[in-house]
Amino acid sequence: MIKISHLVKNYGNFTAVDDISFEVAKGEVLGFLGPNGAGKSTTMNMITGYLSSTSGSIKIGGVDILDDPLNAKRLIGYLPEQPPLYPDMTVEEYLSFAYDLKNCKLNKEKHLREICEVVKITDVYHRMLKNLSKGYKQRVGIAQALVGNPPVIIFDEPTIGLDPKQIIEIRNLIRTLGKEHTVIISTHILQEVQAVCDRIVIINKGKVVANELTENISRAVENTRRFNVKISGPQRDVLSMLRNLPGICYAEVLAARDGDAYTYMIESEVGIDIRKKLFWALAERKWPLIGLEALGMSIEDIFIAVVDKTAEEKAQKAKKKTRYEGVRAAEEKEVAAGIVEKTVKEQETASYDEETTESEFYEDHSIKEDTFSSEEKTEEKE
Ligand code: ADP
Ligand code: MG
Repeated sequence: MIKISHLVKNYGNFTAVDDISFEVAKGEVLGFLGPNGAGKSTTMNMITGYLSSTSGSIKIGGVDILDDPLNAKRLIGYLPEQPPLYPDMTVEEYLSFAYDLKNCKLNKEKHLREICEVVKITDVYHRMLKNLSKGYKQRVGIAQALVGNPPVIIFDEPTIGLDPKQIIEIRNLIRTLGKEHTVIISTHILQEVQAVCDRIVIINKGKVVANELTENISRAVENTRRFNVKISGPQRDVLSMLRNLPGICYAEVLAARDGDAYTYMIESEVGIDIRKKLFWALAERKWPLIGLEALGMSIEDIFIAVVDKTAEEKAQKAKKKTRYEGVRAAEEKEVAAGIVEKTVKEQETASYDEETTESEFYEDHSIKEDTFSSEEKTEEKE
């Protein structure tokens, strides 16, 4: 649905977006991540035709944004980082204005009402924009993007500045939209990405450093090889037993002490679930097992590691550390280095162009009826 090839943006002699390529499949929700200044907004502004590119190509549903900007833009609903809201307009006036600008052909009254129900702004429909809270303003910006039912929706930091409840609402909305639309959202909130996105692209200093299906990242993040295990028993004997237990490749004692129990960090060999064996070994020696905690890594760990361009170098150093943090960091860096290496290759070898049939992208992308409340309910409120 969206194909970006070797996209570059220079501001003077500064390269904000540096030869990036990625694709978003029809119906896919793509999380576009990166630290501040990475080039997310610049990229989104180019995809939506708000900003010209220095070089490279962008195709929306087979339509090149430079060759045919009007038709390409018609396919996109965009929530920019700072939505252009006119403070003295009411919500109704503003959405009506957006409707006219987009030259929309749907039944105006009904369409705008439906959108307001979806983004939950029906109760402020006649209020002035300047009197709305930040959360409501943001939702009006989202409503504006949905006018005309575009098949592609692009949101730049849709949840920035919102409270946790509002964040959950917007997240659910994006999930609903993702069923019928192709969506790109940029965000800082990583749990959000894990919850709603099919694919994650991470950009850093203008370059794409990761492009993975969320499920692949989650799999890399899951870990049943490393545990913190709390055992009551003589420390030296316990440690020696752990180190000699077949299937455990690493064990160390951590500083924390709880009565006569110590916490040990253990790592099992690849493909071995050590938990049962460990239980029986301890039972045999009558050393009670007080706690067992799997040490997975979080998607934050991966993000930080991927964004850290010295990932590989650090992984080498960290491997030599014996402290638990060191070992754990090494694993993150290793996963990250793998992702970066694969992505860098893909970026270099990305094809320059590709023929796409346009017809399939002009289907009915209207929001499903059942995502709206009934019309009677809307009328009741008046
Ligand atoms: P993000 O949205 O990921 O935070 P941006 O795309 O806004 O990043 O910015 C990427 C880089 O380009 C930043 O270093 C920013 O300072 C720079 N930049 C953005 N817009 C301009 C501009 N109009 N002129 C010069 N530099 C800019
Ligand atoms: Mg930005």
